[in-house]
Amino acid sequence: MVPVIISGASGRMGRDLLKIVIESQDYDLVGALVRQGSGSTGIDAGKLLNEPDTGLILCDNVNDINTDGVFIDFTTPSSTIDNVNYCAKRGFPMVIGTTGLGKKQKSMIEYSAKYIPIVFAANFSAGIAFLFKILRDAAKVFGDRSDIEIIESHHKHKVDSPSGTALAMGSIIANELDKNLSDIGIFNREGEVGPRPKGRVGFSAIRGGEVVGDHTTMFFCEGETITLSHSAINRRTFSMGALRAATWVQSTPPGLYSMNDVLNLT
Ligand code: NAD
Repeated sequence: MVPVIISGASGRMGRDLLKIVIESQDYDLVGALVRQGSGSTGIDAGKLLNEPDTGLILCDNVNDINTDGVFIDFTTPSSTIDNVNYCAKRGFPMVIGTTGLGKKQKSMIEYSAKYIPIVFAANFSAGIAFLFKILRDAAKVFGDRSDIEIIESHHKHKVDSPSGTALAMGSIIANELDKNLSDIGIFNREGEVGPRPKGRVGFSAIRGGEVVGDHTTMFFCEGETITLSHSAINRRTFSMGALRAATWVQSTPPGLYSMNDVLNLT
């Protein structure tokens, strides 16, 4: 059994992960963290799901975790960074799904990955990992002769925009074109913006309802449009991917890894 610690246990992703882990024969829940001062602190993890007690009590202080395990983090950027520092000290492998991290926060993760193995992915779905692979090829073939647009839709609770997955798509394309996304991305269109400039990647973010996550990249070429699309139907795809990553990372040397590494996609 893979021992796992879930941080952000009372969140949308945290609850889904908890449910799978509690019901699974392959994973052992050895820690579950909630936000400091949360009303769920001190209750049994099963209560979060309206299920029978598991014997594991939710805690709100990472220092109260006293069993080794793979640390799975779906929280907020600042909490993720605190947890990365803690895991590097304790030698816990990590799976990080939190999005919206800034440049400095990402470089702190890179630094800690010198000491512990970390799988960091803006999207843990295997379908998205596969889409990224195809996107690389599409960018090679069509990238410099098309208008590229990335459109994403998410639920109304999402706090970052564009999504981490949309930005990852943009980075893949920019990389294939030998450019920086910060130079070629168009993130705002308002007022008289003029005709669309060449060689840029436009982003559109839609927010509403309970949409789990839809991503589309369109290459508008002469005489044809290529559309690559992915829809997450529910959170299970992210949870299953994160747990697959947890199994993989526990026996992996220190380093920063992606879902490509976990799925052995080149
Ligand atoms: P959410 O707001 O439902 O859950 C986040 C939880 O983290 C909340 O319950 C909050 O109380 C808790 N939290 C905040 N600070 C904490 C701390 N210091 N310790 C422990 N818990 C803390 O959000 P969500 O939909 O579950 O998503 C969480 C993050 O994961 C977001 O950044 C989201 O974009 C990202 N996400 C990533 C993927 C992926 O595949 N990589 C998939 C879905 C969501």
